Amino acid sequence: MDVQYEQDAGEIKRLQRCINDLVCLLALPALWSGGDISQVLDTLLNTLMRMLRLDLVSVRLNLSVVETPIEIVRVAQSFGPMPPAHEICEALNHSLGDNSPKWPPLLRNLMGDGEVSMVPLPLGLQGELGVIIAAAQRAGFPQQTEALLLNVAASQACIGLQEARLRSQQKCIADELDRRVARRTAELTAANAELQLQVGLLQRLPVSAWTLKPDGTPDFVNRVWLEYSGQTLDFVRSRPDAWISAVHPEDRETASRSFWEGVRSGQGFAMETRFLRARDGTYRWHLNQAVVLRDAEGRVLKFVGTTTDIDDQKRAKEKLRRSEAFLAEGQRLGQIGSYCWRPATDEITWSAELYRIYELEIGMPVTLELIRSRVHPDDVTLIEKMKLVDQAREGSHDFEWRYRLLMPDQSIKYMHAVAHSTRDQNGQSEYMASVQDVTARRLAEEARDKAQSELASVARVMSLGALTASIAHEVNQPLSGIITNASTCLRMLGADPPQVEGARETARRTIRDGNRMSEVIARLRALFSKKEPTTESVNLNDAVLEVIALSILELQKNRVVLCPELADDLPLITGDRVQLQQVILNLLRNGSDAMCTVEDRPRQLVIRTERDNGDRVRLTVQDAGIGFDPQAADRLFDAFYTTKCDGMGIGLSVSRSIIERHHGRLWATLNEGPGAAFSFSIPRTPAGLAHADGIRNIQAPAVTGSAAA
Ligand code: ADP
Repeated sequence: MDVQYEQDAGEIKRLQRCINDLVCLLALPALWSGGDISQVLDTLLNTLMRMLRLDLVSVRLNLSVVETPIEIVRVAQSFGPMPPAHEICEALNHSLGDNSPKWPPLLRNLMGDGEVSMVPLPLGLQGELGVIIAAAQRAGFPQQTEALLLNVAASQACIGLQEARLRSQQKCIADELDRRVARRTAELTAANAELQLQVGLLQRLPVSAWTLKPDGTPDFVNRVWLEYSGQTLDFVRSRPDAWISAVHPEDRETASRSFWEGVRSGQGFAMETRFLRARDGTYRWHLNQAVVLRDAEGRVLKFVGTTTDIDDQKRAKEKLRRSEAFLAEGQRLGQIGSYCWRPATDEITWSAELYRIYELEIGMPVTLELIRSRVHPDDVTLIEKMKLVDQAREGSHDFEWRYRLLMPDQSIKYMHAVAHSTRDQNGQSEYMASVQDVTARRLAEEARDKAQSELASVARVMSLGALTASIAHEVNQPLSGIITNASTCLRMLGADPPQVEGARETARRTIRDGNRMSEVIARLRALFSKKEPTTESVNLNDAVLEVIALSILELQKNRVVLCPELADDLPLITGDRVQLQQVILNLLRNGSDAMCTVEDRPRQLVIRTERDNGDRVRLTVQDAGIGFDPQAADRLFDAFYTTKCDGMGIGLSVSRSIIERHHGRLWATLNEGPGAAFSFSIPRTPAGLAHADGIRNIQAPAVTGSAAA
């Protein structure tokens, strides 16, 4: 009876302990709440070890629960020395295999010092979460209650693990969310800082900047505009066209129209208006530009715009336009065109006037070929001979060029071009040139030359009086010879018998003297005639001697001592003999005139011919007269300049024209002692440039008549 009682009491106690353990196991999830997987496992294994007095408990979690498999082994101290945990796990895994449904409920195995009973408890329905192995050496393990507790522990572990996994996933998600929020916050902070910077920049931009809502109402206007216009932000925002009150009254209508067209069409706008500057009450020109910002669907979000002060530019442009118009007008009045030529690319730009001079359509592309087609064929040949274009391409020279244009109606235009070489910003050679239509001047010069030559002829006729004595002397000699011979002839024929042979001889002498007289008269006629210039081969010494013969009596009358110094080796020259004699005669007469008051020294007049440098000949007439004022040296050659009471001031001017026509030059110098010397130098054969005056490099010495040598 007692035994029975004791058994019952033991059973009751065991059941009570089992219930306690069950309660303890059922409370585990509450303990785990908030914990992670390792805490779940830690508590579970400790609880089982203690509760069931296990010698070994292990747990293996599969990848379905954790990222890397977990294996934990707990061994009781009483179990004696054991291999390392991972070897135990390997041995257990090997014994069980992967297929949980086939696991036996109990395994007996040799481990440590003796036999152990091992209970595999799959986690999850099929053990997909892992496995718990509980092992004890004592016999009868597991008892029924222990098996119950183990199963409850396994299912509690499942719940705990699932929840822990869920929590861990939630934590991961929360962490990720936090990370993203932090990243986004950082991005937004940076964007905000950038935005602040941009707004700051917009406020400080040296132009007025603003934005408009889709209906045209300003929503942002920077400080620059507010300070310029003196308007407040609230005022500008009050209605779409509040800003227009700052526009010049004359511009308001156009400004308003452009503004609303741009806003309503959604295209934005660009317009120029005058805005009032509040600071000084002046209106200044501004450029207003607005572009549109749209959303993904193409709806207008905003208009973004600027208002730029272009008053200075506008004034400069106007000034430029006026000065261009001025220049164009000047070019038109002066018939001066200009062009720019880049030899490297043959790019040619012409001014409008140049098109007009060339009678080409303004703006048509200009090529060297086109220019060549207008230039007179003779001058094209000259240009090609001078290799002008090649020279320009090769180096930087300045050029002066006179040429003719042959227009479609066969009329001729005379041009004078001056080209200056510069470099553009890329260092490429560039020619800037001005071309003047000098046709009118040229025709006037020709008319003047003609008038001068007529005047010269009057002057020559006037000087005829002075030469009468000389002519009388020249003519008198043969004339008295003729008279003497004629009376001798008559006397001989009247003799008885008539002296026929003597009469024939005197008749021959009469004829000879008659011829001499006719030669003298022919020379005089040539000198005083107005015939057209001719070109012939001239012996300058002979021409000098003829002039001397004509003027010797007058010179003698003035007590002039003439000293000819004529070079023996003087080459023949090509030119107009009579014209050159007119020059010589003029120089001799001037020299004689300059000495007419000289009493204290011989009135010596030297006439010298000699070879000059570079195949030229030179003639000098040097007197011992009164000389001239060095200050007036430049004017001696001007037409109508004279210091003589009976002078006309034409001689030197005409002489210079004649010498220049022979491509020579005529100049005057003062002697070391008293008197002056007038010289001319002409090339033996002047290059035959009858019309085009040719091309010369500006750096070459000027070849013109001058008062100084
Ligand atoms: P004209 O002899 O009629 O005055 P020219 O043209 O021949 O005209 O000469 C112009 C001026 O040049 C002269 O009036 C004179 O003052 C000056 N002149 C010319 N030749 C000489 C000379 N040999 N010596 C000094 N002065 C001269």
